Amino acid sequence: MTCLFCNIAAGHIPAKILYQDDQVLAFDDIHPQAPYHKIIIPRKHITTLNEVHDQEDSVLMAHLLRSAVMLANQLNIAADGYRLVMNCNPQGGQTVFHVHLHLLGGRQMAWPPG
Ligand code: AMP
Ligand code: ZN
Repeated sequence: MTCLFCNIAAGHIPAKILYQDDQVLAFDDIHPQAPYHKIIIPRKHITTLNEVHDQEDSVLMAHLLRSAVMLANQLNIAADGYRLVMNCNPQGGQTVFHVHLHLLGGRQMAWPPG
């Protein structure tokens, strides 16, 4: 298995997991860019957002989003605010090619993003 996030989902590479269910997994980003920086992934390997085509994967993406909001609430950053980011392909800043959401919070975010 060559995909880093598939290896984390399988438990072959350690991560600080804060939430998991049968469809998604959330863990600490190894290089946090904010006081709270969590990564939320589907267990299913989907390379990029461009590969989300069918209804099943669309439902999975909705669950990914709902899981991020649930975590923001659990971390008590929902009311102050947070940012969800999904980078797509190299020009979008994607470096790990397994779809994931970044949940960033705990500080004021800047706009436009870099
Ligand atoms: P992206 O650049 O959007 O593909 O995001 C990949 C993210 O994965 C980056 O923020 C990395 O810091 C993070 N990352 C890379 N390796 C690990 C790891 N072993 N455990 C947790 N996060 C990681
Ligand atoms: Zn994968």
